[in-house]
Parts: sequence; structure tokens; C-alpha cells
Amino acid sequence: MSLKIYISGTLYDKEDAKISVYDHGLLYGDGVFEGMRSYGGKVFRHGEHLERLYNSAKAIWLQIPIAKAELETAVNDTLVANGIEDGYIRLIVTRGAGSLGLDPNRTSDPQVIIITDHISLYPTEYYENGLEIVSVSTIRNHPDALSPRVKSLNYLNNILAKIEGLQAGCVEALMLNHKGEIAECTGDNIFLVSHGEVLTPPIDAGILEGITRDAVIELAKSSGLAVREIPLTKHDVYIADECFLTGSAAEVIPVVKVDSRVIGNGRPGTITRDLIAKFHELTRS
Ligand code: PMP
Repeated sequence: MSLKIYISGTLYDKEDAKISVYDHGLLYGDGVFEGMRSYGGKVFRHGEHLERLYNSAKAIWLQIPIAKAELETAVNDTLVANGIEDGYIRLIVTRGAGSLGLDPNRTSDPQVIIITDHISLYPTEYYENGLEIVSVSTIRNHPDALSPRVKSLNYLNNILAKIEGLQAGCVEALMLNHKGEIAECTGDNIFLVSHGEVLTPPIDAGILEGITRDAVIELAKSSGLAVREIPLTKHDVYIADECFLTGSAAEVIPVVKVDSRVIGNGRPGTITRDLIAKFHELTRS
């Protein structure tokens, strides 16, 4: 059976799920999106993802044509229509079809798209042995140009960094901000563990406010760990005892090497492993 895709109120077979080539989402990356996970048929932190989507839309003057509650129901119904329990959900809102000019006033009908699919997980080896990552020369978008808090359809900033990472043989790449501080990876937030404290860049370092990041901060705090959101440098990363990344797709993934420096003892750290276990418990129980 073909996967069903939701486009603005209707479910289409995957082969027939199409939008206009004049849609400004395609022409200019003008739109917003979310990447979410479902566990046992339930979307993880659904409300938080919807809030971030509507906030991203608000920041770019995009009016999502349906209410949050209606969109929440549409996501759940699309999961059911596809019989997906443990899956990945891509929620997209485009500016809609318009003319061949930037002016959003010449567009109409923002399109709301829901893709629910089976998740392609990172190999278990990454979780057991940890990742190697590199810092790259492409810096994160300056917050005054396009705020990284907006999860926009224009991901070229991250894609350029991803290509640099891949060219260095790494599946993730560490991006700095315009001040030379640690920002985040191309699709994941970053954490360090140093002297028993959990450290992560603050939102005003110019990063996406990750939903997994929030969940992990809560888990760390509730297990009695000190968590500090502070500006970090590459040096802080190199001398950290542990390092890990968080994201809806990757969940919590250990990092054992950064820019050829071995982190800690080169194995996923104790606190990282404990947080991975706690995150599994949170999502799968
Ligand atoms: N940073 C960026 C740039 C991302 O694209 C993502 C994934 N959406 C994240 C961080 C992690 O966010 P979340 O935990 O909400 O998936």
C-alpha cells in the first residue's frame, strides 16, 4: 500500500502528492517545517513542536491557514491512515503558489503538508561507539539575518556545513556562530559534560531551540545534575569529559572525537549513556 500524504485537507497517494512549481516554498525556501517522532502511535512532545512551527511562521509573517488543534488532529489522523506507530513526521507549511517574484503578497493558499514515514535510524554502532565530528568553516546564520530559531524551509546554511562535514568523512558537522562560539550541529544540538556538569550553548548563541535539547535538560536536572546554558568555545569542546548531540531523529548520540581530538577516554561517557537510557525510558514507556 502506498503511503498517504496529507496536503491541505486531503490525503493523497505518495505518487500523486504534488504541489505547484510556483510555490514560494520551492522558489525561495519560503516556508517553515518541523521534524517529529512518534513512539507507539503517539507524537513525542507534539504540543511543543506545533508551538515552534507556529512561532517560526509568525516570525516570517506566514499565517498558517488552520488552527493548532486542527493540525494536531491532522497529524494523528495521517499516522493512523498509514498504520505508523514508530515513525518520523515531516510537517511543512509553504507560502503557497505565487508569481515569479519575491513578494509574498502575490502568493495565495499556503500549503500544509504532512508526511509520515518509517524512520531510517542511524546505525546502532554510532550509539555504542560514538561519532567523530569536525568543526566547519560555514558559520550558523547570523541571528539578525535569519534567526536560527526559525525552522525555515531554507536549510542551505546547514546543508553547506553538512557537505563540509561529509567531505571530512563525518556525518555531522559542528557549526560556530558569528562570534566564534559553539552554536550547534547541522541537525542536532550539542552538549558537553565537564567536571560533572552538563553544558550547552544558550539559545542566544544563535541556535534552534531543540525539543530534544529541552527534554534532555529536564532529564539531566531531574537526575540531580547541574545544567548550565553558557557560551562555549572549541577549546571547551576539546577538553570536555563527554560530548553528545540531541535531535528528534538522532535522539541522544555520543561524540567521541572532535577535530581529531579524542573526547574524554574516547568512549561514550557515563553521563551520556545514562541520559541515552533515560531518554529511551521517556519515549518508549
Ligand atoms: N538544530 C538544528 C539546526 C536542527 O535542524 C534540529 C533538528 N530539527 C535540531 C537542532 C534538533 O532539534 P529537535 O530536537 O527539536 O529535533
